[in-house]
Amino acid sequence: MNKLGCYTCGAPDALQAFKDRTYTVCFKQLTRPVHGLTGHECAKCGEVEFDAPSAERYAQAGDELIEDAKRVMADEIKRIRRKLHFTQKSAVQLLSGGGHNAFSRYERAEVEPPKPLFVLMRLLDRHPELVAELETLNECADINSLLEQKQQQREKARPPLSL
Ligand SMILES: [Zn+2]
Repeated sequence: MNKLGCYTCGAPDALQAFKDRTYTVCFKQLTRPVHGLTGHECAKCGEVEFDAPSAERYAQAGDELIEDAKRVMADEIKRIRRKLHFTQKSAVQLLSGGGHNAFSRYERAEVEPPKPLFVLMRLLDRHPELVAELETLNECADINSLLEQKQQQREKARPPLSL
C-alpha cells in the first residue's frame, strides 16, 4: 500500500505510511488534538491521507469541536450576562443592538455571537466595573458634542449671507 502515487501531486512511489500520529482540529482559535491517527503522507508535497477509520475519527473530532465550541460560547454569554445583572432585553439595548431576541438565540447556541460582542462580554467579565460606563456611552453625549463641533465648522465655512 505504500507504493502508490500521490493523489494530489501525482508523484510516484512517494506515499509513506505513518501510524499513531497526532493532528489538531481547529475551529476559529480553538483547537483540540486527535491522537493515534494512521495513514499515508506524500514525501514530495506533504499531502496527508488518513486511513478510513482515522479519517472518520478526525472528521468526527472536528464536528464535536465545533459543537462543543458553540455550546461553550453560548454558556459563557449567558454566564457573563447574568453576572453583570443584565436581562436578555437590557443586554440587547446596552450591548448588542439587533433583534429583541438576539441574546436568547446566542444563549441557545442557535446563532454564534458576533466577535465584537463576544470580546466585549469577556472584557466586561474581567472588568465588571466598566458596566457603569455603559449607560453613559449609550446616551452618546460624547458623540453629540462631536456632532455639534461638526455643525459649527460647517457654519464657519459657509460664506456670510449678503443682505
Ligand atoms: Zn504529493
